[in-house]
Amino acid sequence: MTLKTIATGSTGNCYILISDSGNRLILDAGISIADIKKGLDYDIANVCGCVITHSHLDHSFSANKIKNFAPVWKPYESDKARQHTHLGCFDIECFDVPHSVPCRAFIIKADDLTILYASDFEYLPYNLQNKNINVMLIEMNYQQSIMNKLELDGHITHTVTGHSSDKTTTEIILQNQKHLQNVVLCHYSKSGNLRRDEALEELKSKVPEYINTQWAIPGEVIQLGCPF
Ligand SMILES: [Zn+2]
Ligand SMILES: [Zn+2]
Repeated sequence: MTLKTIATGSTGNCYILISDSGNRLILDAGISIADIKKGLDYDIANVCGCVITHSHLDHSFSANKIKNFAPVWKPYESDKARQHTHLGCFDIECFDVPHSVPCRAFIIKADDLTILYASDFEYLPYNLQNKNINVMLIEMNYQQSIMNKLELDGHITHTVTGHSSDKTTTEIILQNQKHLQNVVLCHYSKSGNLRRDEALEELKSKVPEYINTQWAIPGEVIQLGCPF
């Protein structure tokens, strides 16, 4: 299984999971359809579906255009907090996460890997330890220390809500570290609320070395799971 980042952050989010058999699942569609097709190398034949976390345009912008060539699942449109579906070889369940609008995180299984995709959440309301998560594509939006300083200096009156801090994301990773092989951090704030290198080094100092930990970088492809 591989993960390709097409776009990440508040200007647009789109990732592709590619199974060993070549099935491709689009995670969020918050950029132009032209950029999504380019990210798919103009080959839409093996796209088995698309999941959307929530209605904000940096996640849903091209959802209706993807419907022209693949099924699109928007579970946040239902009142049900937890749902389940299949798209191609991907077994997918979702659960509700606290954000400014209804929002879902996904647990996706394929190729003997269990992947958590969680973006735009303040915290995860469920204990996921019995899910045995191997891969996390997870938001780290801001550093608590920077927000505290901004607040102290009077630049902001309250901290950001609806997004995950370095502290929250690190706690989720540590709680679920037992089966983890890859952590891919996403949706970082581009407005100076996070120093990417510093936040990554800090996280790496806390998680076991065997967990491959990195930022999602547009255009980059990451091999998921154990290489042997
Ligand atoms: Zn967002
Ligand atoms: Zn959002």
